[in-house]
Amino acid sequence: MPAPPSGTKLAAGLYLVATPIGNLEDITLRALRVLREVTLIACEDTRHTHKLLAHYEIAKRMLSYHEHNEQERAIELIALLKQGASIALVSDAGTPVLSDPGHRLVAECIAHGIPVVPVPGPSAAVAALGAAGLASDEFLFLGFLPSRVGERRRALAGLRAETRTMVFYEAPHRLADTLADAAELLGVRPAVVARELTKLHEEFARGTLAELAARYRERAPRGEITLLIGPCDEAVAQTAAAETPLATRVEQLQAQGLDRKSALKQAARERGLNRREAYKQLLT
Ligand code: SAM
Repeated sequence: MPAPPSGTKLAAGLYLVATPIGNLEDITLRALRVLREVTLIACEDTRHTHKLLAHYEIAKRMLSYHEHNEQERAIELIALLKQGASIALVSDAGTPVLSDPGHRLVAECIAHGIPVVPVPGPSAAVAALGAAGLASDEFLFLGFLPSRVGERRRALAGLRAETRTMVFYEAPHRLADTLADAAELLGVRPAVVARELTKLHEEFARGTLAELAARYRERAPRGEITLLIGPCDEAVAQTAAAETPLATRVEQLQAQGLDRKSALKQAARERGLNRREAYKQLLT
């Protein structure tokens, strides 16, 4: 249900309001109006959101909603929404719910028949993807990789045959290690480190994974980072795919949306097998 036009009372519901990822000018007129008109604003950090509200001279009741109180707060907010409140959910930056708290509340609203209204705007992943210059017709958003080394390496190894551009959020102190692991496990691929987007020191560093790993190993970066890893070339993808067991490869391709027959056909082609040989291999 879209927000009603200006001057009309805001309908009850949860409004997912995207806020700036650095530059305070990156907020929509609709977002500002919704923030002005809602009953209250649920935010990750009330002090952080207060700065945004103060900048736009918006005085509004705020309630904290973060990963540590999500469960109790969701119950409280659902009760208010059922009484007819309009509530804006904002995170510290960008689009709420994307690698940010909010999923639980959205799911609860849907379960209770409460409208959930997107008020779109900035997101670091999309801003970075647009300017990165990597293939973007299809992309895979993966949020934060696991922080434990073993889990992170396993996650990266599972992406070896991935042919879409991948978008990650990463902490600056882990960037060099992640790039080095990615260079080792994903092979030669173009990558982009998008740092401090929309801020004074905005920077795009481009190179292969290994080049970027060396650069950030020498000098650790500061600020907020979105990492993009481009597709490997077709030959590398085929070698990686060919090294994956046939049954696993078929599952991977099905997970990418192919039906079983087409997945088997493609997996067979990658290995230079005809379909009969591939079937036989699958059965053994
Ligand atoms: N929901 C947010 C969004 O839509 O962009 C992302 C929230 S996530 C908790 C925060 C991560 O996003 C940061 O650790 C960083 O990896 C990335 N990020 C946020 N702001 C950024 C910026 N200005 N430049 C680059 N990356 C940014």
